Amino acid sequence: MSWLWTSADLIAALNGRPVGHMPQGITGIAIDSRSLGKGDAFFAIKGDRVDGHDYAGLAIANGAGLLVVSEAKLPALGRLIAPMIVVDDVLEAMVRLGCAARDRSAAKIIAVTGSVGKTTTKEMLRHVLEPLGSVHASVASFNNHWGVPLTLCRMPESTEYGVFEIGMNHPDEIRPLVKMVRPHVAIVTSVAAAHLGNFRDLKEIAAAKAEIFDGLVENGHAILNRDNDSFKQLEKAAIDAGASHIHSFGSSAKADFRMVEFANGPDGAVLWASIDNRTFEIPMGAPGRHVAENALAVLGAAFLVGADLERVAASLATLQPEKGRGERHRLAIGSGYLTLIDESYNANPASMRAAIALLRDTPPQEGGRRIAILGDMLEMGEFSADVHAKLSGPLTEAGITDVWLAGPDMAHLRDALTEGCNVEYRETVAHLQAFALEAVSAGDVVMIKSSKGTGCGKIVADLLDKY
Ligand code: ATP
Ligand code: MG
Repeated sequence: MSWLWTSADLIAALNGRPVGHMPQGITGIAIDSRSLGKGDAFFAIKGDRVDGHDYAGLAIANGAGLLVVSEAKLPALGRLIAPMIVVDDVLEAMVRLGCAARDRSAAKIIAVTGSVGKTTTKEMLRHVLEPLGSVHASVASFNNHWGVPLTLCRMPESTEYGVFEIGMNHPDEIRPLVKMVRPHVAIVTSVAAAHLGNFRDLKEIAAAKAEIFDGLVENGHAILNRDNDSFKQLEKAAIDAGASHIHSFGSSAKADFRMVEFANGPDGAVLWASIDNRTFEIPMGAPGRHVAENALAVLGAAFLVGADLERVAASLATLQPEKGRGERHRLAIGSGYLTLIDESYNANPASMRAAIALLRDTPPQEGGRRIAILGDMLEMGEFSADVHAKLSGPLTEAGITDVWLAGPDMAHLRDALTEGCNVEYRETVAHLQAFALEAVSAGDVVMIKSSKGTGCGKIVADLLDKY
């Protein structure tokens, strides 16, 4: 049996007190009693809404091999009989275990941050590195104060490539996380207006992203987006943080990992990339120029950790879009079909522009329309009215005239669109949903995007249901 952690190592790393009959080791780590595997250790983390200690009994019933609980909660666990490791604070103990996982690892570690494209880039790295060696990567967007240490503790000792997503909503969040991860390669995908409500301007956002360089190992590599307005600021920050090697990606002639050309097709795209004085023609399984931009960073990181670029490039052909991030569906309707582009995962101004470009590059069938169904971008603070209104620019440039909108913030875009547009506006997503379900027709290409919290994903679900 190969254990993720033996109990002895676990107790030592957690600096905990064993209670009851310890198993020899654990096979995994869980913080949710609903998704644990048999033999996992269940860490009773206290979150904003729930306290894991309330689910300790359920975790044991569901097969947990042992519990990690806090001393203060022991009385509340009452008569629960189970092997436990008792610690001062469960989250802090998990951080200690995460650091122990990093200490024992010989893996090449890549960390990814940025305002958009973290998960896309992280999953792309997983996809291209998996054929080359064992990969351990963050689940979903587990990129915060518990997601990062959890991902670290779950990293098997035999891992060859570790890929970590690191996110933030505020300054000073990335620094402690990246110091646990200690990457060999740190990528900043791009800096853009996201969580704007918590920041004064893009400069502040860039400064917070730049904290990722503070955790680089000696001789580490920073990968920056040369086309991004924050490039110079990030470059300086990387130098100040002591990054040994600074590389860039993008379409600029100065980029080290360079987009020579890019062509979008109906079911994918082709990227011509130049790296290390070699040019690769790369069919991309997932469409969109923004995905190809992320792929440049992926190719660069893979190159820096010594991967075979021919094989990495070949893997990009079988890449699939992530859920709600450019997934395409062809739905039978009337005597033809409509193309649905599901962008409902989330939205901010940068990803809205990327999705509008994707819609522009997806031709409708004869007689069909390109329709943008857009809901509010949340967390934009005092900039909200402005960033919503400004989407009229990319929509107009892309020649998209059928624009269906829902939500209070999207009223600003409605007002900014010119008269030549066929704008439908509803105050609520539910009203737009009722309208959209009847108003789409054969030949149309429909792209649906908004912040997750608006519920626009329901329009996607209903269209998939009905057609
Ligand atoms: P989160 O902060 O929610 O974890 P993330 O940074 O992990 O987000 P993704 O989930 O990869 O980002 O993508 C979020 C949205 O941004 C999706 O709509 C995706 O298509 C879009 N996106 C991905 N990469 C880029 C990019 N380089 N430029 C613009 N938009 C992008
Ligand atoms: Mg993410």
